[in-house]
This record gives sequence, C-alpha cells and structure tokens, in this order.
Amino acid sequence: MLKIQGLDFPDLYRSRLGSYKYGAGVFKMDWALSQPIPFTSEKCRRAGTVHIGFTEDEIEQSEEQIHNKKMTDTPYVLVAQHSNFDDSRAPEGKYTAWAYIHVPNGSIKDFTTIVENQIERAAPGFKNCILDRSTMNTVQLEAWNPNLVGGDINGGKQDITQLFTRPIVSISPYSTPDERVYICSSSTPPGGGVHGMCGYNAARKVLKDHFQDFSH
Ligand SMILES: Cc1cc2nc3c(=O)[nH]c(=O)nc-3n(C[C@H](O)[C@H](O)[C@H](O)COP(=O)(O)OP(=O)(O)OC[C@H]3O[C@@H](n4cnc5c(N)ncnc54)[C@H](O)[C@@H]3O)c2cc1C
Repeated sequence: MLKIQGLDFPDLYRSRLGSYKYGAGVFKMDWALSQPIPFTSEKCRRAGTVHIGFTEDEIEQSEEQIHNKKMTDTPYVLVAQHSNFDDSRAPEGKYTAWAYIHVPNGSIKDFTTIVENQIERAAPGFKNCILDRSTMNTVQLEAWNPNLVGGDINGGKQDITQLFTRPIVSISPYSTPDERVYICSSSTPPGGGVHGMCGYNAARKVLKDHFQDFSH
C-alpha cells in the first residue's frame, strides 16, 4: 500500500506500516494424476483436504525450523484433492491435487522431492500416479499475486503481536489517515483465511463513517 502514489499518509503512519512483519512463505505444488491419491487411511481418502503431519513432534519441529530459516525433510503438508468430489476439476477419468508446505519467507528452493516423499509416506504408490506437476516457490507466488509477500499467504505474520493489531496498533485498523482510503485485506483483523471478515468489518467501518443513518 505504501507504494501507491498520491496517498496522503503522514510519516509516522508510513513508518509504522513499514515495520509490519511477514510470516512463513509457502511452496505450492499442483499435480495431474491418473487416479486418486492412494492414502492408506480410508478417512484420508474421503477428505477434501488432508493435513499430513504423522506425529506432533514432527509437525512442531518442522514449523519451528521455518522461523529459523531452516527446513526439515519431513515438513507438515496440506493436501487438497477436490477432484475426487468435484468432476469439474479434472478431465473424465483423471484427477488433480495440490499441496503446500510452509517454508522460510522468500525461499526459492525446490522442495518437490520433500513434498512428494511426505505424501508417498501416507499414500504408498502416490508417485506412480503422477502424470504431470507444476511448482511455485515463494517468489513465483508473489509474482502471481503481489499480495503474497515473500510467499506469505496470510497477508502478514499471525503471531500474538500481530493477531489483532494488524497492520498497526489501532482501535480502527481498517481506516487510514487518508479518509478516502480503507484497508480490507488479510493484513487487517482477523487476518488470513477465506472467511471474508476483514472485508465485512472494513465495509461496516466505511458505512459508519460516511452514512450517518447506518446503525447495524
Ligand atoms: C495456495 C493457497 C492456499 C490457501 N488455502 C487456504 C485455505 O485452505 N483456507 C483459508 O482460509 N485460506 C487459505 N489461503 C489464504 C487465503 O487465500 C488468503 O488469506 C485470502 O485470500 C486473503 O484475502 P485478501 O483479500 O487479503 O487477498 P487476496 O485474496 O490475495 O486478494 C488480493 C487481490 O489483489 C490483487 N492485487 C494485489 N496487488 C495488486 C496490485 N498492485 N494491483 C492490482 N491488483 C493487485 C491480487 O491479484 C488479488 O486478486 C490460501 C492461500 C493460498 C495462496
């Protein structure tokens, strides 16, 4: 937002926005598959989204390492296999799936083998089902959508210091010092996710500020 020309922002607000922190990035993969992912677990075969982690320790360690700019070989993987339940996602008789892992913000490493190894552990035979794949590292994700800064899909770090106080500490985080400009992205409370609440709250704030008879 700071790059937008013509905004009437005082230096203090600019410098506070400038110290906003971004969190882990993601490495994203998409696959064309000859059959559904052969998860050993029947529950996983029936789920639209599967969170692969194996043990609590493994998940904890992999997530912790990312914040030290390191990776384990056994990261937590989020896998989505919507074509199993939605015919419009793949040609007849074929399947698609996508997955991501958390990686250090800005990482350009290729984590294909690590991701596919993790899925293979939960679904032996997975690699044999792969017809084609595409990958996006954090830089490619940001080029695709400039909102994914360093590959961060949450619009900013969601830790205790920025959970409700995003992008700055303010009783009205959707407003800016420029009364023509409001913020409604996941860089405002309650943060990332496709829940729509950031936009809903921002719209209410606009109505309250500019339409005197708005009461709910
Ligand atoms: C691979 C992936 C998986 C995800 N999985 C989930 C999930 O399972 N559940 C969940 O709740 N959330 C998930 N998310 C997160 C969720 O998508 C985001 O938190 C949410 O979309 C953020 O909404 P937003 O409106 O802030 O930004 P976005 O949805 O990113 O929208 C920003 C828009 O602005 C456009 N834009 C950016 N910069 C400019 C510019 N300079 N000029 C013009 N246009 C611009 C972008 O093209 C984009 O259309 C996922 C995200 C990704 C990338």
